[in-house]
Amino acid sequence: MPRGQRTIFLPKSSEDLKKCGSSQCAKFSEKQLKLCSNCAEVAYCDSECQKADWRDHKRHCGKTDRVELEAFMPLIAVMMLTHRTHPSCPHSPALSHKIINSPNPGTPAITFPDGSSATLVLLGERTAPNALQSHEWWPTAESIDTRNQFVKRFFSETPLLPSVLAILLSILVEVYSTTHVPASDAHDGKAQRRVRLKYRGSPISDFGIAKGSVVNVSAENRFVYYTIDPAGGTGTFTKGMDPDDHYWIYFTTTTGEEITLDCGLLTFAYPFIVRAQPYDKFCDLPAATSAAPAFFRGKEYRHLPDMHREKARFSVLRDARMHEAVRLSREFYTEGEIGAVIGFMERVAGRPCSDIEKYLVHQWTMDSSKVLDQVVASRAYLDYPEEPDLGMMGIPVPSFLEGDAGKKAEEELTNYMKKWSRKYKKGKVSLDQFTDAFVTHAREKRQELGDGEGPGRR
Ligand SMILES: [Zn+2]
Ligand SMILES: [Zn+2]
Repeated sequence: MPRGQRTIFLPKSSEDLKKCGSSQCAKFSEKQLKLCSNCAEVAYCDSECQKADWRDHKRHCGKTDRVELEAFMPLIAVMMLTHRTHPSCPHSPALSHKIINSPNPGTPAITFPDGSSATLVLLGERTAPNALQSHEWWPTAESIDTRNQFVKRFFSETPLLPSVLAILLSILVEVYSTTHVPASDAHDGKAQRRVRLKYRGSPISDFGIAKGSVVNVSAENRFVYYTIDPAGGTGTFTKGMDPDDHYWIYFTTTTGEEITLDCGLLTFAYPFIVRAQPYDKFCDLPAATSAAPAFFRGKEYRHLPDMHREKARFSVLRDARMHEAVRLSREFYTEGEIGAVIGFMERVAGRPCSDIEKYLVHQWTMDSSKVLDQVVASRAYLDYPEEPDLGMMGIPVPSFLEGDAGKKAEEELTNYMKKWSRKYKKGKVSLDQFTDAFVTHAREKRQELGDGEGPGRR
């Protein structure tokens, strides 16, 4: 199969959109000018300037599918959840061994000689994957619910950096390589469509990987595993995911909005999820998966406390080496191309990456690119709800509920959150207490309303 070359078309930066697109005017403005409503690729002072430029602009204009990030974000969450089901993805040892102690919520953490603390999970003999969630797997779990939640938290402990990078590379190659080509210019006689992400009407001007810490993860909400050697020798310690070695996705818009998307928080008992349908259409997920972990923080969630302390960020969209790396194909990468991707990953990590991380970033980029290729080709995003069903694991997600009960639950939750965020803003409660309140409310609701939905529930 011939390998078609891909060109990445960078969206305009905020600076670009402060300059009038008409060459006869080209004035700079302090504020953002009005976008061409058809393509959103150029801005003008007014309709006069737009008219003056139309002769030149009409060749490049063309209709653009401007996809709202909030509507698109669950697809990213579902693709990241799909990464975790890859046969080569390493998993927490708790998913392949029996748990022989009682690390139930509220169990005090233990402190290690290096000063770190975490909940100790003692592991005995090996167990089959189908025994998970059973009494046999973890006899002393305080409830079925706890057992189910812990399975999901253990399952969320997978390499984050290659997963986040693979997602962003696949968006780069499948979305930002599309452009407007009129039918008369297309080699196959078919007009091509441009697809771009926007947030609240403003084009996304950058995206990449943010690196840093998840704030306020208590020691109890971290795991450390000790696997006992059945032959009586020394067992093995394995540390769970480290909240101080965390990666998430940032987006910025031309108007300077900052959006955060983190799909790696569930292991620390942050229960944010999003409904997995209809985004799972082209993904290879188990049929029973109803939700995927996702914490999305845009303009409208400003009242939620920031969960992250960012140390550094690395643009993927505006890194010329990444454009080079994805230039040739989604199907196949040469050693040089994948080398550039691994080099980027190691710069982000600030350390050499393991062989499995190198292997997975390649596999996952190809997997997610295939999904996005189908999404773009079928314009599946046109069917995505404007407002995704966000929720919290452990309670029936309000929007999942039908009719009056759903409305009431949603209102209650909103009021509750507002009350607590006021307290938080005034400095009356700490972020820890704020988060606790959140989780307690979730628990109470769960008891009130019966069991809820969660990722992978059957
Ligand atoms: Zn002008
Ligand atoms: Zn236009």
